[in-house]
Amino acid sequence: MKTLVWLRQDLRLSDNPALVFACKQGAVIPLFILDDGAEGEWQMGGAQRWWLHQSLAALDSDLRERGSALVLRRGESADVLTTIIAEHGIDSVVWNRRYEPDIVERDTRIKESLKSRGVYVQSFNATLLNEPWEVQNLSGKPFQVFTPYWRHCLKRPDPSEPISAPKSIEKPTQWPRTESLAALDLMPRIAWYRRMEQSWQPGEAGAAKNRKAFVQGHVWGYTETRNLPAIRGTSRLSPHLHFGEVSPRQVWHAVKTRGARVGLLTNEWRTNQFLTELYWREFAYHLLYHFRHTPTQPLRTEFAQFPWATNSRHLKAWQGGSTGVPLVDAGMRELWATGWMHNRVRMIAGSFLVKNLLIAWQDGARWFWDTLLDADLASNTLGWQWCAGCGADAAPYFRIFNPVSQGEKFDPDGAYVREWVPELAKLQTKFIHAPWDAPPSVLRAASVQLGKNYPEPIVDLKATRTRALDAYRKMRGTS
Ligand SMILES: Cc1cc2nc3c(=O)[nH]c(=O)nc-3n(C[C@H](O)[C@H](O)[C@H](O)COP(=O)(O)OP(=O)(O)OC[C@H]3O[C@@H](n4cnc5c(N)ncnc54)[C@H](O)[C@@H]3O)c2cc1C
Repeated sequence: MKTLVWLRQDLRLSDNPALVFACKQGAVIPLFILDDGAEGEWQMGGAQRWWLHQSLAALDSDLRERGSALVLRRGESADVLTTIIAEHGIDSVVWNRRYEPDIVERDTRIKESLKSRGVYVQSFNATLLNEPWEVQNLSGKPFQVFTPYWRHCLKRPDPSEPISAPKSIEKPTQWPRTESLAALDLMPRIAWYRRMEQSWQPGEAGAAKNRKAFVQGHVWGYTETRNLPAIRGTSRLSPHLHFGEVSPRQVWHAVKTRGARVGLLTNEWRTNQFLTELYWREFAYHLLYHFRHTPTQPLRTEFAQFPWATNSRHLKAWQGGSTGVPLVDAGMRELWATGWMHNRVRMIAGSFLVKNLLIAWQDGARWFWDTLLDADLASNTLGWQWCAGCGADAAPYFRIFNPVSQGEKFDPDGAYVREWVPELAKLQTKFIHAPWDAPPSVLRAASVQLGKNYPEPIVDLKATRTRALDAYRKMRGTS
């Protein structure tokens, strides 16, 4: 029996049900296909391509330790699968499911076509704690509000125990041809990724390291630390989760085990804020699966009429971290340099774009898509629709973050701004989040020249707040 394991966003050996199933059948061919066409308008950005390159190298090396190897191909998935099946007498094809609407359709087509040709096909859940179709409200409909969704999930049986990585993997008598990793052309031509290399270790071992460090360290203090961008108070598991280098089941059970070890009651660790965030990820997938239009269109239809502004100068300033609003600029620069941005700052930078600049959330989502290492169609869509107030359980539109008071609260000594906006590093803490309020002598002492070595704010925060509220009233026909 020869089984093809089609690896996609499950780039790990442990808790990989498709791989374990294949190993039980006999010889296994692990295959990754770079199929950009299938992703439609959501092809990976440069940061993710860099990550994928590293992650595939790590996976291949892990497979080789078990006597196997990763076959790499580029092209249309259906064609590649059909060719390998025909050339190598494959009996069965297995994979772990993805949930993006176009991918679901493609996978369904492939499944039907392979089955009709007598190939055994099976797919598995390796990505979510609950399948999106398993969870529904009392009326049998998808949830659109997080808290009842989460409460419902808590009443469901615990996620199954993660399965161990196979100790050895039987290889086929003849391997299919493989592309070299370099031939996939994932690495950028210009080496702008040095800072990412310092910040991340893509692959299953890097994911396990982050998971262990977090679960043994910060997890119980997460409620306090998670909002402080200057410290490492969150798990930084998001790109690892996106590429499937760790499963949410593994994370969930790691928290459970640790909770029991430190003597917490079941209810204490189950409702832990960190696990709740994992359910936000689940909720994002639930919404994407049931409301497939939401990556480009608002869930709340009245927002289709929202009078968004078009201003490429403002959009560029936001993207480049030169809006003159320190916390927003710090976040946008962190994103550009490391491929990641702290969640609190994502919310503040997002609110600034859609509310103070009145630029459509889709433009923000697109930039994040191109620059985030963890760019994920479900979570990015949820995050942006939340910022814009047009999604499920979104922040009400009239809740407009003030980046100055947010900075004073969550970056009280300005350490985060000082790190990412070094032009302001010497500025007194009192003015670090609003340099435009600093007297000239204070600016001079810190070598800050507004409009010269750091921009004046591109908009007035107060006036644009009023403008956003007016636009909202106009949309609702209440002005
Ligand atoms: C505008 C905007 C865009 C976003 N885009 C993405 C995206 O493309 N990909 C992505 O993974 N997350 C996205 N998020 C959610 C969140 O910012 C990141 O998941 C989080 O910052 C990742 O850091 P962490 O792994 O240290 O998270 P932790 O705080 O340690 O949380 C653990 C895990 O829970 C999940 N999670 C946490 N918060 C959220 C959330 N609000 N929504 C969904 N899942 C969550 C993530 O998988 C995360 O790795 C976005 C948020 C906003 C406001």
